Amino acid sequence: MRTKTAIYPGSFDPVTFGHLDIIDRASRIFDHLIVSVFVHSDKKHMFSVEERAAMLKTALKGRKNITVDSFEGLLVDYAKKKKTNVIIRGLRAISDLDYEFQIAAVNRTLSPGIETVFLMPRQRYTYLSSSVVRDIAHFKGDVSKLVPAHVVKAVSAARRGK
Ligand code: ADP
Repeated sequence: MRTKTAIYPGSFDPVTFGHLDIIDRASRIFDHLIVSVFVHSDKKHMFSVEERAAMLKTALKGRKNITVDSFEGLLVDYAKKKKTNVIIRGLRAISDLDYEFQIAAVNRTLSPGIETVFLMPRQRYTYLSSSVVRDIAHFKGDVSKLVPAHVVKAVSAARRGK
């Protein structure tokens, strides 16, 4: 039987309930989902790639058809390496579309076989992003409705460490 793998790439700095909602949906459609942390050296991050991957792993523990990984370089090259042509992205609002449309088009130009599949999270997560979590944490606000408990802990520890 053919197994269909999809990749969900992102910064996940840190993983939020919005990301986990998209992961749930994608893992119900595809046989195997690779959630992969994008290594982007220019961006300022709250957590290292290893920390971000570890938080994802804890959140996704016991989920048999999900693998957590990280990658550097072009997503289309990474997809080739993983022998898949499906990329998952989340769409929160129309405001995401401009940027996502551009990336999807560039990826398809670089690799014509690539398909980007967009999934919508449930309504209550449409405002949620990792940067909202980082901003609230910066001002010592409560992020427990936005991220899993182990991420709440990591976020407060990171804030205290600064
Ligand atoms: P962000 O920093 O905005 O959370 P990421 O690079 O971690 O962004 O996001 C990876 C993917 O997840 C992107 O396609 C992004 O649109 C999507 N995403 C992020 N947050 C949400 C959310 N709350 N609901 C649905 N999709 C989301």
